[in-house]
Amino acid sequence: MDFWIKNERGQAQFKGGRHDWPQASAIAAGCLHFSLDDEDELVAEEERSCYNCRYRRWTEHSFICMKR
Ligand code: SF4
Repeated sequence: MDFWIKNERGQAQFKGGRHDWPQASAIAAGCLHFSLDDEDELVAEEERSCYNCRYRRWTEHSFICMKR
């Protein structure tokens, strides 16, 4: 849970913000829940990334994962 903090609702928010591309892809590489989002929602070049996952919900400065 190193790369996550709990927000006020108890949801897991990514500590790396919106631009930690290497970390977002490293997490997704080891995540059993990864699922590629719709094409118009993809933002990362590397396909397998939390930033491209249908379970991430963007926040102002980062995203939360709906599977954590
Ligand atoms: S956003 Fe959540 S479910 Fe999706 S790859 Fe990242 S950790 Fe896994």
